[in-house]
Amino acid sequence: MVVSRIRSIVFGWEGATTMELVAGKAHIDEPIEGTTPRRFGYDEAARSLLVEWLDGQAQAIPFARLRRSCPCAVCSGELGRPGRFQVDPNLRPGEDELSDIQLVGNYGLKVIWADGHDTGIYRFELLQHLGENGDGD
Ligand SMILES: [Zn+2]
Repeated sequence: MVVSRIRSIVFGWEGATTMELVAGKAHIDEPIEGTTPRRFGYDEAARSLLVEWLDGQAQAIPFARLRRSCPCAVCSGELGRPGRFQVDPNLRPGEDELSDIQLVGNYGLKVIWADGHDTGIYRFELLQHLGENGDGD
């Protein structure tokens, strides 16, 4: 599914205007079309994070997929230890409820979940990989 009109999304976060992030303006020194976000939003009904890229493409990433793909050591595993969702694939209450997001440098997005988990930094390339595309499959 393609989110063709991210503008119609109501930004509901605290400080929502900061979500109009801003590639090409302040934080992103060398924006790269397609892998630099223009802004983020969220679709409460679809429970998805929305990303509009600099090239105008928009993608939706379901919260559950986003959480299961958390790149932090606890969730993804390290040093031979299994990751959080390899141990138990079920989501617990709050784990896939988005609480806030913050830009990290010019390369990633920190996602804060309702259960307090906030150690995952999603590189823009990962977000793009997780996004649903509109190519029909
Ligand atoms: Zn994590």
